[in-house]
Amino acid sequence: MLNCKKTIELLYPYLDRELSAQELEEIQEHLDMCPPCARHFALESGMLRIVSKACKSVQAPAALRARVMSTCMKAAEPPRSQ
Ligand SMILES: [Zn+2]
Repeated sequence: MLNCKKTIELLYPYLDRELSAQELEEIQEHLDMCPPCARHFALESGMLRIVSKACKSVQAPAALRARVMSTCMKAAEPPRSQ
């Protein structure tokens, strides 16, 4: 069984689909019983989806593109440990 720390460490590999089926299953199990981690994953995955979609839209006006780029840069920062 994963603990919260390990689960959060696996967040980005999880979102990047770099994990084995076994690891995905363990994460899913943890998220099912740990609302704080589930919320964290939902927030991050939602943001990542929006950002990657926005980053791919090359037709965006310059102002929007600049804003999106800065969001992308922030998203690329490693998670802060508290
Ligand atoms: Zn947890």
